[in-house]
Amino acid sequence: MKFVIKLHAWYKKNRRDLPWRQTRDPYKIWISEVILQQTRIDQGLNYYLRFIETFPDVASLAAASEEQVLKCWQGLGYYSRARNLHAAARHVAGHSGGRFPDSYEGLLKLKGVGNYTAAAISSICYGEARAVVDGNVSRVIARLYGIEEAVNGTAGKKLVAALADELLDRADPGTHNQALMEFGALHCVPHAPDCTGCPFEEECEARITGQVDQLPVKIQGRKPVDRWMYFYIYVCNGEIVLTRRNEQDIWKSLYQFPVVDATTPLTDLQIMKAPGQLATGTTIRKISPEVRHQLTHRTIHARFIHAELERWPDPLPSGWITVSGQRLNGYPVPQLIHRYMESINFSYL
Ligand code: SF4
Repeated sequence: MKFVIKLHAWYKKNRRDLPWRQTRDPYKIWISEVILQQTRIDQGLNYYLRFIETFPDVASLAAASEEQVLKCWQGLGYYSRARNLHAAARHVAGHSGGRFPDSYEGLLKLKGVGNYTAAAISSICYGEARAVVDGNVSRVIARLYGIEEAVNGTAGKKLVAALADELLDRADPGTHNQALMEFGALHCVPHAPDCTGCPFEEECEARITGQVDQLPVKIQGRKPVDRWMYFYIYVCNGEIVLTRRNEQDIWKSLYQFPVVDATTPLTDLQIMKAPGQLATGTTIRKISPEVRHQLTHRTIHARFIHAELERWPDPLPSGWITVSGQRLNGYPVPQLIHRYMESINFSYL
């Protein structure tokens, strides 16, 4: 229990004052945990505040349209998180009279809720003895115990989970989990942690054996694949074309400009020829320089083609909608498109 006493003392002194630490409302903890899964706290904080203000409870989230939820999430990336939140809120509202699941097992039944999120919510809100393991926790444990197995491999994950469970303070698992995550985020950081000022300095295996810089060991992920995307910004009489993305990918259900996807870069001539069906009466005004956008498994090289039409084709190509310049901002779009729209002036709309 020495570990627990030291950890809690460190947490008491160093914890950041964050809004989700002032509540035990499982809805709010759920939203904060999902936002923070792949987002830094400084970036996620404003999204959390905005999301809770827009959808203060599970009923309001369930009642919203998918478009409203995606719009509120715009810029955070990993949009499946927002779609899953929405689907889970609808499930809670429709199947259990709006009552949020009150156990780890019940939480696991919600769409998008895995071991990590279920352990965080059940320990913080219901005092259930479930150890949370995120990237920060696995780094701390790998160093404390000198684990040389890859922490993202099957055997390493199992070992870290078992040790996290062994360390868990069963009298106050919620505080313990938050303290260990915070210790990893603020003190036992990936590069050059302050080992001399660390409460675990004397027992930390990595420090004793001089392996702090080598641990945790991780299996390297796949190298991102390059992809070229050519977005056609068709404008006519103050309106612009959007399409809704139906592909089963990270941008599913978001809006975009009609796009040509390619596995190799296109020449300017190929770019001009690509929208063949619009050749008559189409003036290409500008082709943007390449905009690079990095996703976890993909490097996108995007170019935006500004094209003005004399009149819309009749009928409009399947999936096209025409939107006035004023209403454009109401549509959820990928961050790549959002940033580009912010950087240019649609003065001819
Ligand atoms: S001694 Fe260093 S490596 Fe070990 S837990 Fe403390 S900060 Fe992390």
